[in-house]
Amino acid sequence: SLSDKLDKAFHVLKGHGQITEVNVAETLKEVRRALVDADVNFKIAKNFTNTVKEKALGQDVLNTLKPNQMMVKIVKDELTELMGGDAEGVDLSGQPSVILMSGLQGSGKTTFSGKLANFLKNKKTKKPLLVACDVYRPAAIDQLHVVGEQINVDVFSNKEEKNPVKIAEAAIAHAKENGHNVVILDTAGRLAIDEQMMNEISEIHQTIKPQETLFVVDAMTGQDAVNTAKAFNDVLDFNGVILTKLDGDTRGGAAISIKSVVDKPIKFIGTGEKMDAIDVFHPSRMADRILGMGDVVSLVERAQEQYDEEEARKIQKKIAKNKFGFDDFLKQIQQVKKMGSMKDLMGMIPGAGKMMKNMDIDDDAFKHIEAIIHSMTPDERSNPNVINASRKRRIGKGSGTSVQEVNQLLKQFTQMSKMMKMMQGGGGKKMMQMMKN
Ligand code: GDP
Ligand code: MG
Repeated sequence: SLSDKLDKAFHVLKGHGQITEVNVAETLKEVRRALVDADVNFKIAKNFTNTVKEKALGQDVLNTLKPNQMMVKIVKDELTELMGGDAEGVDLSGQPSVILMSGLQGSGKTTFSGKLANFLKNKKTKKPLLVACDVYRPAAIDQLHVVGEQINVDVFSNKEEKNPVKIAEAAIAHAKENGHNVVILDTAGRLAIDEQMMNEISEIHQTIKPQETLFVVDAMTGQDAVNTAKAFNDVLDFNGVILTKLDGDTRGGAAISIKSVVDKPIKFIGTGEKMDAIDVFHPSRMADRILGMGDVVSLVERAQEQYDEEEARKIQKKIAKNKFGFDDFLKQIQQVKKMGSMKDLMGMIPGAGKMMKNMDIDDDAFKHIEAIIHSMTPDERSNPNVINASRKRRIGKGSGTSVQEVNQLLKQFTQMSKMMKMMQGGGGKKMMQMMKN
């Protein structure tokens, strides 16, 4: 894998006290090979390693860092830069705001339309409308209705109408009448770049003048993703790229190349088939992912700074006696928060990305979690088992959340207790040991 290769590349530098022309050349050759293997365009990979080389050679190796750590940092910073700096959102200023999806068939347009609608709906002030503009496949219209039902978002369609522009116009009128402030146009794609598809999407784009035109592309198609992005970019002035299917072992090379080839920001990524498998694109996290190895060094440093051994010992005792409660959980959260964001933290542990996804942790969730725990009585905190349906309703009300969220927290709490028990069985120590090496 790419991360193994990069690991090997950085190994070459280990044990050297300085970054020199000789050791850096060897490493960069490996880095370049690794990037090309991950479907990064050769020219881009070459430019990239040249930039890294200049930076590396011009830099004094800090006392506290080994040359290989220094190189990891330079490579990561450069990758982040290459993928576009800060995360960018979508323009929601329209009345309604119209978002047009484009891309090949199977790239994930319909799925992403649903995910985005769900993402916006959860922001409370947005009332999205999904619109089926795929006029060729009746099944595609049905698919969008299924998606809409899943996430409880209205879907506009008209199987009699064969002109997608007319459907879009009718949908926008419908949105205005019914108080929808976001209109998401799901369109038809083809299996390959094709004139009719391009004409159709351009016509929708020119007539409707959407606030956002998003190009959806399957990251699993690797180098093809770049070619497709280029072809669409030549015809359609889209505002942003959506990179789907970045779950599993998908290589991240497409993300590196796309931005430099089309010069459009990647806005969101899709990480699964479910409606909540959507993430705002963060270049630095993507760089971590591509590097795979994670920023182990700074994790260890931060963990050591903040980790209160005494507190940890107390908690371990409680876990052992099955006395670990929500008060302790709250303390742990505060501990973790001191260390940085949960996602960043997990992202630093090699291989933890998958686990993180299963646990469904996000930074905003902390606020809700804390609110929920604060709404529990001391007894409920130490004996979560007593929390029955009516207590859940009370807690939900008190914390301004829902019974569903309370349930979710209870579930996560059980999961976390289990995990901590597992870590206690020596796994945790092993992990810390591993990270120090
Ligand atoms: P469309 O033809 O562009 O509308 O593509 P669809 O939305 O119908 O998606 C095609 C297939 O890809 C479906 O089976 C989706 O479930 C799947 N899919 C879409 N996005 C993702 C993703 O982020 N991860 C995974 N694993 N599958 C996805
Ligand atoms: Mg579709």
